[in-house]
Amino acid sequence: MSTKNLLITFDYELFLGRRSGRPLDCMLLPTKKLLELLKAHGAKAIFFVDTTYLCRLKEQSKSHPECNEDLTAIANQLIEMIRDGHYVQPHIHPHWLDAIYDPSIREFDLTNIERYRFHQLSSEDKKIVFTSSVNILKEIINPHFPAYKINAFRAGGWSIQPFSDFKEQFLEHSIQYDLTVVNNLYQFSNAQVFDYSDAPKEHVYRFENRVVEKHPNGQFIQIGSSLVPISKNLDLLDRIYKKLLNIFKLDKDYGLGEGQASYPIQGHTPRSKRGINIFSRTHEVASFENLSLIKLMVYKKQLNHENFLHLVSHPKMLGRHNLYVMNQFLKSVYNNHTIETDFINIAESYLKEKPSI
Ligand SMILES: [Zn+2]
Repeated sequence: MSTKNLLITFDYELFLGRRSGRPLDCMLLPTKKLLELLKAHGAKAIFFVDTTYLCRLKEQSKSHPECNEDLTAIANQLIEMIRDGHYVQPHIHPHWLDAIYDPSIREFDLTNIERYRFHQLSSEDKKIVFTSSVNILKEIINPHFPAYKINAFRAGGWSIQPFSDFKEQFLEHSIQYDLTVVNNLYQFSNAQVFDYSDAPKEHVYRFENRVVEKHPNGQFIQIGSSLVPISKNLDLLDRIYKKLLNIFKLDKDYGLGEGQASYPIQGHTPRSKRGINIFSRTHEVASFENLSLIKLMVYKKQLNHENFLHLVSHPKMLGRHNLYVMNQFLKSVYNNHTIETDFINIAESYLKEKPSI
């Protein structure tokens, strides 16, 4: 029985638009349920923590005691994740620098997206933001787990290009793994800009100067996220099914906030014809918030055929139905296969494979 590599990753963050929502219902409560579910199946996950949010919370704590309470609750949950065997790694959304806190509702307004991408920061700010991101996780984790290693990263809004913006910071902070690339996906909007249309077809590869260019001796390792093909009929069926869930209020208990409204910008074309736009209905980024009972077979099939599935999910987006289907999915794949969920083991298994001659 061949081992199936199932990479379960979460972006642990608030909403990033006009209303951030609050950490209790967007992060803490859904993650509590997730941790119970993962424990029941013995699955490991990576939580990419929006460290730019934590840095702002820390700063606001001086004048707003409720921010300090939120930061403490989040820190406790991060410790619990590691205690359960999961990984906690940094995730950066630079426009937190320009977020405005409204103490009357205990939420932030993140509509200023002039610095949405890391690329838009000055070189001095790049250094400060990345270093403080790594440091705030170390401050939280190291007193409990002195040997814990921060070594992986995912860029906010999938925007890690050009990699030259990050390379120096990766080297400085010993970040070896990047999990930002989604094979073949592209987007050019007023917020996100990325083009992975010409990414290598391998799930795991070494790279050096470009995240989509394989380099045999590269210092960094890319672990790509999965795109799942969705047929027209399945998409239609799924939309009807979700309407029904909505009518019967079975999908409703996730966090309340507002994401960033973005629109495509003209004048850009992807480097390769293989490119798939993020708004395309023919494919979706594999995630537990996209997964419904209707799509369960397609996800299982992809894991079965490719021996690999990398899901990128967000606790803030997970409703009751998603958690139910996540449980069904894990039950089924653990019953039928040997499953590997540790990202270091997964990466090593691909990198030691010799190419066939
Ligand atoms: Zn994010």
